[in-house]
Amino acid sequence: RNPPPTLLHPEKWCRGFNHFISQCLIKDFEKRPSVTHLLEHPFIKQVHGKDMSLQKQLAELIQEQQQLGSVAKTRHERIHTRRPYHVDRADKYSLDDDLDTIIQQLQKRYADLQIYTYVGDILIALNPFQNLSIYSPQFSKLYHGVKRSSNPPHIFASADAAYQSMVTFSKDQCIIISGESGAGKTESAHLIVQHLTFLGKANNRALREKILQVNPLVEAFGNACTAINDNSSRFGKYLEMMFTPTGAVMGAKISEYLLEKSRVVKQAVGEKNFHIFYYIYAGLYHQKKLSEYRLPDKKPPRYIDNETGRVMHDIVTKDSYGRQFEAIQHCFRIIGFTDEEVYSVYRILTGILNTGNIEFAAISSQHQTDKSEVPNPEALDNAAALLSIGSEELQEALTSHCVVTRGETIIRTNTVDKAADVRDAINAESGMNVGILDIFGFENFTRNSFEQLCINIANEQIQFYFNQHIFALEQMEYQSEGIDATTVEYEDNRPLLDMFLQKPMGLLSLLDEESRFPQATDLTLVDKFEDNLRCKYFWRPKGVELSFGIQHYAGKVLYDASAFLEKNRDTLPADVVVVLRTSENKLLQQLFSSPLTKTGNLAQARARVTAASRSLPPQLSAGRIKVDTMEVMRHPEETTNMKRQTMASYFRYSLMDLLSKMVVGQPHFIRCIKPNDDREALMFSHERVLLQLRYTGILETVKIRQKGYSHRILFEEFVKRYYYLAFKAHETPLGSRENCLAILEKSKLDNWILGKTKVFLKYYHIEQLNLFLREVI
Ligand code: ADP
Ligand code: MG
Repeated sequence: RNPPPTLLHPEKWCRGFNHFISQCLIKDFEKRPSVTHLLEHPFIKQVHGKDMSLQKQLAELIQEQQQLGSVAKTRHERIHTRRPYHVDRADKYSLDDDLDTIIQQLQKRYADLQIYTYVGDILIALNPFQNLSIYSPQFSKLYHGVKRSSNPPHIFASADAAYQSMVTFSKDQCIIISGESGAGKTESAHLIVQHLTFLGKANNRALREKILQVNPLVEAFGNACTAINDNSSRFGKYLEMMFTPTGAVMGAKISEYLLEKSRVVKQAVGEKNFHIFYYIYAGLYHQKKLSEYRLPDKKPPRYIDNETGRVMHDIVTKDSYGRQFEAIQHCFRIIGFTDEEVYSVYRILTGILNTGNIEFAAISSQHQTDKSEVPNPEALDNAAALLSIGSEELQEALTSHCVVTRGETIIRTNTVDKAADVRDAINAESGMNVGILDIFGFENFTRNSFEQLCINIANEQIQFYFNQHIFALEQMEYQSEGIDATTVEYEDNRPLLDMFLQKPMGLLSLLDEESRFPQATDLTLVDKFEDNLRCKYFWRPKGVELSFGIQHYAGKVLYDASAFLEKNRDTLPADVVVVLRTSENKLLQQLFSSPLTKTGNLAQARARVTAASRSLPPQLSAGRIKVDTMEVMRHPEETTNMKRQTMASYFRYSLMDLLSKMVVGQPHFIRCIKPNDDREALMFSHERVLLQLRYTGILETVKIRQKGYSHRILFEEFVKRYYYLAFKAHETPLGSRENCLAILEKSKLDNWILGKTKVFLKYYHIEQLNLFLREVI
């Protein structure tokens, strides 16, 4: 194949070289996959002797192609392994047009299984709803330490950017993954951990294994099947990967937020309990150990059998749960739990399942109207035996108090502290980290309860952080470059956040206040909301007593306030605690010995925030992000007193703890998008995507880049790219302001701006420049 004549002159084709050569080489290579053969290629021969670095570059390309060639089988893989050397390729992936164009491009790319796209610095990830083979170690290698523009967009590129930035600037990083339930946040978090482990070259294979096993284990305890996602995370998770100053993985630490405890005792139609309960029941069934844990083998315990018979059928015929249980046993071993500890965990879990089978009946005697009894004492005995406590004490503790909270309490302490064990086992003192936030996305169901409210408030807070960062930073860059650019209006959700969090009149404070009145009911609560929350974000629909509506940033949500007070009070009767503390199960004893004294963590969080506020740019530290975090810090009596009187105050604390972790790191944003509600591969719903892009502020992000200058290129880089437009091919002009000016004037563009160190260009300038470049070449 003869190259076009112009390309035969090295000084000319050097510029067009990357794209053209790589195309030819790849084609050649596909025909004959041999490196020696490729080195004989006329192009390479020409380069030989003239420019060794170019040849080296080519040799690397070939080698990479060779490695990838052997794994790249599908068309999709080929798209991803075709390495675009063309620098301006990157611009193609940065969408700077309006929302419609963005969606069209996303759709086109999705049809090609190109699920990743950059909008500015943000990575948009469309859920492919099918397994893609673009996450193998070869891909980790491909994305290792190269410029973002060298490869098609990929989640590994984002992880890589965070890692490089951490190593280069010795600064903590924070990757914030957001999106609706089922949009792919948890998968994304996994992939990031995978790539970071690769980058951090944990020499120690055992450590690498440990880190990779933490996720499946934590998910077994914290994830469940919901109507929307078969593996929905019912807790927020902040995973910190810690590195030595040279960038080697040291360990990982996990913090969780807001486990949806109510799921243990009750699940909505079409939903299930936390995975672990099915795994353990099925595992013990297949290992014929059910009787050892006092569980019946004909009918699963009530807590996991809400669709009567279904679970038993699945367990007997499929055994996928059983296999999962084996996987969990394996995880426990790898992470380093002792047999005794694992046994304690199993006993607690099966103890909970047995507790669920305890029934209650009112005592019919005349004098004792307020007391109930247990008509099936064997269930009580079973539960007590597994929890290693006395059954009479248990019965006494249970029957003299509200029974509804019994199961919840146990799982709460179990799961939360379980992971805390994992967390505390790792020394977090030195080095730097990349934190990965995978928190439940915005939820809007047919029936939305207290849990949804908490989840959605958390999302408001994260959206707020996103806005601050994206918009505040943009303005900062203009300022520091001495440019007077128009400010872009964006939907500021600050007033809404205030409505929730303000003291003493915010929604959460009102909820707490009402929870203190024994006479209060959910109805008086909603009345109180109505009387006090006088703003456009709150309304009360007519005709539905216990209902109230909130205009969230992501849309209107109607909440059902029934059981709000009870869920908020979330009290564990003291007698139950006393009984559980008498348990001979050491783990259980520990879990209940000092309920949630996390003051150490809080002190650390506060220190981190203080340190961070010093290193943040003044505009940001003085800005609202910090104010929110500081609000809590200004109320030490509330936060140090972690006795967790109510869910609302615990929630508020968690949110601030989370924020305090986030603000110290340099943020990277990943927006997961669910292309359809049917979990179908290759199906792209225009409306659904539009909605998600709209409420996550992607349009505003694009706008700020459109109104502002979407491309900000350092002088040197600009001259290197475009010198050809104003200089001779053999010249090597300096990357100076004057030379940039010369190029810009020669190309007859208007509306550009020269800052102090960068050329500021509109999104369409790049296309024009490239067009000119092609003409000249
Ligand atoms: P979220 O955490 O946002 O609720 P998940 O990460 O659990 O969503 O994703 C839901 C499902 O979508 C996963 O179980 C998986 O089947 C699919 N999925 C998401 N991301 C990917 C991906 N990158 N590749 C393949 N499947 C994916
Ligand atoms: Mg998830």
